[in-house]
Formats: sequence, structure tokens, C-alpha cells
Amino acid sequence: MLANLDIEARRSDLRPAAAHLARRLAGVAPAVRSAVWQDGLDLFAVAAGLKPVGLLGRGFADAAWLGAAEALARTLGLSALTGACWHPALRDPGFPDWYSAAVGVRRLCADGRVAPEDEAALLGYPVCCVVQHHAQALALERLTVALVTRLAGDDIAHRRRLVAGGVMPTPQSEVEWRQLEAAGAIAPQPYPSVNRCAACASDPNRPAGRLGRRYRELARRLDYPPLATVH
Ligand SMILES: [Zn+2]
Repeated sequence: MLANLDIEARRSDLRPAAAHLARRLAGVAPAVRSAVWQDGLDLFAVAAGLKPVGLLGRGFADAAWLGAAEALARTLGLSALTGACWHPALRDPGFPDWYSAAVGVRRLCADGRVAPEDEAALLGYPVCCVVQHHAQALALERLTVALVTRLAGDDIAHRRRLVAGGVMPTPQSEVEWRQLEAAGAIAPQPYPSVNRCAACASDPNRPAGRLGRRYRELARRLDYPPLATVH
């Protein structure tokens, strides 16, 4: 996680950094190159003052590249925090105590929950998209509660062990499969690492599309090469 200092005036100085990171892309496995490329652009969005904070290495990552990106971030005068991990705030009081306790054990992280408004402000994402993303993440957790409860029955200790172990029981009905599919559905916006909400996915002139165009322009100004040209 990287906090911005005052970089807007230094945007032109970012080109050598962009070239440096782009060269390292060639050493990254093709399967994760797209995610890593996008993380690089996210780092430069922070450095250029487009957003206060970037989260790198979430999902698919390359450890060597992440190390290089962190070193570069420090060179650029950004502060870096490793191991940052957050999840949607549990606003819905409907989560049972046994689940919260087990999740707490698994994450060993007492304060890893963030409200959509805060996440949107920190990462520079549209609130509408983050709200939908959080709703999907929480729906997945609710489905986990339901499936674990059915599997373990009244045995609370068993339920906790399943959740603490990260077990997601297999859905049994078509309805449950549909819920799982809906909770995991994503519509990535090219360039910034944001998942578009349904409204933004259907209208390029909504906030996610506008953000995508700003990031595309940033990549162009930094000569950060389009992903298709990296081999
Ligand atoms: Zn949206």
C-alpha cells in the first residue's frame, strides 16, 4: 500500500521509472503479466497524484516484480506498507458470532475491514463500483455461512474449524450455484484495477469508463508500453 506525497509536478520524471518497471515485465510469467502490468500502472497513478493509495499484488502476483515495484516506490518518495489486507466492512449485523470469530482467527487481523466510501476515496475508484464489489464479497461470505452451517449442522466448533481453514463447501442446488456465480462475477475496467459495477459496465461514459480513460492517458504520457507489446 502506497501513500502519495506531492508528486503531481514530478509526472515527467516518472518516465524512467515506467521504463524500468516495463523492462521487468518481460521476466514475469505470462499468466500473471496482465495483473502485474496493471499493478505497475496503479503505482504510477499514485505517483502521479491521481489517487492517494494503491494496493499491489492482490490476487495474482510475482514476488520478484513486487519487490522491484516496492523498491521503486520508495525511490519515488512513496511510503510502502507490506502485508496490507482489507475486506468489506460487516455492516450487515446478520453474520453469526461463530463466523465472525472464526474469520478473525483466520485473518489474525482485528481491523481489516473497510467501508466502500473509504476504499473508493483511498484507491481513487468510483463509489458505485466499490459498493457493488463489496456487496458481492459479502454475498459470498453469507453463502459461506449458509453452506458451512448445513455441512456442520449444530456443531459450532466444526463450523469454526471449516471457516478458519478457509473451506467453502460445494453448493448443492442450482440456486446456490447461481449465487456463487453472481458473487464471483467481475467486469474489469481496462487500465485501472477496478471492477465495474453493472451500470458502469453498460455505459462507458460513467465513472469507471472515465477513470479508465485517465489511466490510459497516464500510460501514454509515461511511455508505459501497452501490455500487448511486452514479450
Ligand atoms: Zn460504477
